[in-house]
Amino acid sequence: MNRIHHWIDGRSVEGRSGRVGPVFDPATGVQQAEVDLADVSEVDAAVAAAKAAFPAWRATSLARRAEVMFRLRELLDANRKELASIVTAEHGKVLSDALGEVARGLENVEFACGIPQLLKGGYSEQAATGVDVYSIRQPLGVVAGITPFNFPAMVPLWMLANALACGNTFVHKPSEKDPSASLFLADLLTQAGLPVGCFNVVHGDKVAVDRLLEHPDVAAVSFVGSTPIARHIYETGTRNGKRVQALGGAKNHMLVLPDADLDMAADAAVSAGYGSAGERCMAISVVLAAESIADDLVERIAARLPSLRTGPGTEPDSDMGPLITGEHRDRVRSYVDRAPEEGASVVVDGRAETERPGFFMGPTLLDHVRPGMACYDDEIFGPVLSVVRISGYDDGIRMINANPYANGTAIFTRDGGAARQFQFDVEVGMVGVNVPIPVPVSYYSFGGWKASLFGDTHMYGPEGVSFYTRGKVVTSRWPDPSTSTIDLGFPQNR
Ligand code: NAD
Repeated sequence: MNRIHHWIDGRSVEGRSGRVGPVFDPATGVQQAEVDLADVSEVDAAVAAAKAAFPAWRATSLARRAEVMFRLRELLDANRKELASIVTAEHGKVLSDALGEVARGLENVEFACGIPQLLKGGYSEQAATGVDVYSIRQPLGVVAGITPFNFPAMVPLWMLANALACGNTFVHKPSEKDPSASLFLADLLTQAGLPVGCFNVVHGDKVAVDRLLEHPDVAAVSFVGSTPIARHIYETGTRNGKRVQALGGAKNHMLVLPDADLDMAADAAVSAGYGSAGERCMAISVVLAAESIADDLVERIAARLPSLRTGPGTEPDSDMGPLITGEHRDRVRSYVDRAPEEGASVVVDGRAETERPGFFMGPTLLDHVRPGMACYDDEIFGPVLSVVRISGYDDGIRMINANPYANGTAIFTRDGGAARQFQFDVEVGMVGVNVPIPVPVSYYSFGGWKASLFGDTHMYGPEGVSFYTRGKVVTSRWPDPSTSTIDLGFPQNR
């Protein structure tokens, strides 16, 4: 059985904990590898390597750090297909989707290529007579990134590009379900000229994560995953004095007003609901349909689903791959099983696909869903789209704002005034206007509100640079004997 090891201090390190986890091929359901699960000493070794590499890396010029990012950008560009196939092999998403993931990750490296510009400080000459004041931003030290299974290439790139460009060193704990993309990134970073020890990978589970959260040499933790774990990461990390950004789960609503272009809305709902088999934190999982157009919209969505092909991600005619594990597939299926007794109707039923080998579940459409039903209240994270019928805009906005999650949302309308009011009213971090998956470009920042993000800083973009650096202000006077006096008064700027 292929065994996947850690990457510590510039080399592959075989795990010694005696614990391993299975890595499946989700398209067949067969275990294809086992991954080392780190113990405390292995996490400590990775942090020690990152700590040892930090002084030289933070002293490396901005020009040189930018050069590493430019090289990484070229290497990623040249290796898009290989990285995407690694993602497809372990995650299961279709290859075109994996290529999209790599492209969005690469944008974060392109952003980090501009690090000399991004780290410019301010300067005030003659703040007092002969005194200048300036601000600089410095790296934090060793930072840790803990990432989910659903974007094994993109989410690490959200973190590591800015973290390293800012002069930090990095310990990555990828999802144990699809750990290989991270090792491929480690290899590309090495080829790009990143010094040994600056980027380390420890595979593992709660044992490794909890050690990172309490390790005194870890200055900051970036996390992306489910809400209960995000809350645990935030609470434990901050209690241990670390800077933490912890992004959690989602339940994204798409509000369709009666004036919307219904074909466009149906296309968008299908793309955003079933892309990556619904395993996206920005997937649309609820369509809020104004009552007057609800029958029509449900019909149009349902009409599109028979042409979606569920199959292995490696096959070019598959639109939707399998789910990550059999256990997760069964959980997704259980929401559909319960829906009728809760009062919802199953308009399109994808459960037949669960009978074939692999962790498949076909596209499923539920109608007449209401808050209080499990399929509405929980994050399902699968190809199950729920339609909730609403009386109009006010009803819709009330429902979105009452939801504990607040990652993404979208409005579909032709009315610019309604869209503008929506943007004003809605209590959600990322908003689309006739755009169903409004993931911000890399020069903005990504993050939800409420139970979708714990911490003050959104991820990547300008807020990422801010998260991975801390400010320092220098007040300076150069010796000028003609202005030197003794003055016991409080320094004044006049
Ligand atoms: P998860 O929370 O189960 O795991 C995320 C990471 O935490 C993994 O590295 C995992 O090993 C680790 N982990 C799991 N259990 C832990 C525990 N008890 N203690 C400490 N660490 C633990 O999430 P997942 O299933 O890998 O990913 C799917 C979830 O991630 C969904 O809820 C999805 O919405 C969310 N997600 C959110 C965003 C976002 O930007 N907000 C992006 C992608 C995914």
